[in-house]
Amino acid sequence: MSKEIDVLIIGSGVAGAMAYSRAQERGAKALWISKSIGATGLSSGAINWPQFNADPSDKRTLAWKLFLQQVHVLDFKSTERAFTQIGSVKKCFAVQGSQFFDFDAHHKEDLIAVVGFSGLPQFDAQATAHMLEYNGFRAQPLLIEFEPQNQERWQSLASFAQDFDQASTQEACLPRVVHALQSKAMPFKHLLFPAALGFHSAGAFLQKLEKQISHSASELLGYSHSIPGIRLGRALSEHCKQDRVINYKQNGHHIDTTQLKNHGAVQTKSIILATGRFLAGGFHKKSQAFETIFKLPITQKVLEAWLETDEQQRPLNQFGEVFATNLFAAGANIEKGAPSLGQAILTGYQAGDLC
Ligand SMILES: Cc1cc2nc3c(=O)[nH]c(=O)nc-3n(C[C@H](O)[C@H](O)[C@H](O)COP(=O)(O)OP(=O)(O)OC[C@H]3O[C@@H](n4cnc5c(N)ncnc54)[C@H](O)[C@@H]3O)c2cc1C
Repeated sequence: MSKEIDVLIIGSGVAGAMAYSRAQERGAKALWISKSIGATGLSSGAINWPQFNADPSDKRTLAWKLFLQQVHVLDFKSTERAFTQIGSVKKCFAVQGSQFFDFDAHHKEDLIAVVGFSGLPQFDAQATAHMLEYNGFRAQPLLIEFEPQNQERWQSLASFAQDFDQASTQEACLPRVVHALQSKAMPFKHLLFPAALGFHSAGAFLQKLEKQISHSASELLGYSHSIPGIRLGRALSEHCKQDRVINYKQNGHHIDTTQLKNHGAVQTKSIILATGRFLAGGFHKKSQAFETIFKLPITQKVLEAWLETDEQQRPLNQFGEVFATNLFAAGANIEKGAPSLGQAILTGYQAGDLC
């Protein structure tokens, strides 16, 4: 016998998470599934949102408020810029608290320390400091003797981050940073760390450190497969179930039943398709690219691709008609142009409102 629910949400990126939160907030009985992590986990962990409108009655503001509630552990802060791991300055809308550098409170002449660890050769503090100098800031590497307990070096930034989630690793690291600062005796005003200070706990470590030194400290923005991106994805997808659609039954312009691999058949009033683009597996690249579950047609311009939708975010078929009246799309899969986490927050929220 099939289960009955109000809404099935597919995809555990930011768009799926927002659709789920909004549907829950409206009292809907929702099932949220995904096959793995998508582009959200590849992002720097900082939010781009080019068309944010600060009007309190605007959907963007409502969506942003709900997003902040969902990820309160990451303590997001609004800012227009942030430092990246390659020593550049990236425009953005908000960053995780651990990534925040107060550009207004610092002068360009203030000296910044870029912290590197001897056991983490994957992050080159010297190169980052050099690039910061090239970009008009004053920066010096601060190299710290710090290795894993049982081996010479960490295998990757991810294994460093995993280790750094242990209180014992942080406790061992903190006095070494303080000692290195004292030994170097340079007038540093801020410390920049690689984007790898734990999958959960970067903020707590930095706060403890700031209490012991007279400087502020933050993490850089991550690269693709970045720890802050994964941190964001994990903070959002706690209630998501591992599953995928294997079949569905359509009655005219209505999808009646969806067959899931792990949860069996579900009867659902609405479905939200938040499965991203090619990287996340939401789109499939053949001679003619298409969306993977419902085989919806895709519009493609150079490297960008999207599903055409009506004003209610319902995907259109090859004849330009609504494919199914109860299917809504959200996130990177409907964004025309370069995708951003901000648009995924907004369209996910809207889909959760419409379903
Ligand atoms: C390398 C990179 C860096 C980026 N950096 C930034 C940045 O710094 N700031 C910014 O604002 N934006 C950034 N972006 C863009 C941003 O990451 C995306 O716009 C955003 O993550 C899209 O979210 P989404 O929820 O639509 O899709 P995704 O996060 O891609 O999620 C799609 C989900 O659907 C699931 N899925 C796919 N197919 C199926 C299926 N058949 N069944 C079940 N589940 C399925 C996937 O497993 C995944 O969980 C970056 C993108 C990339 C690729």
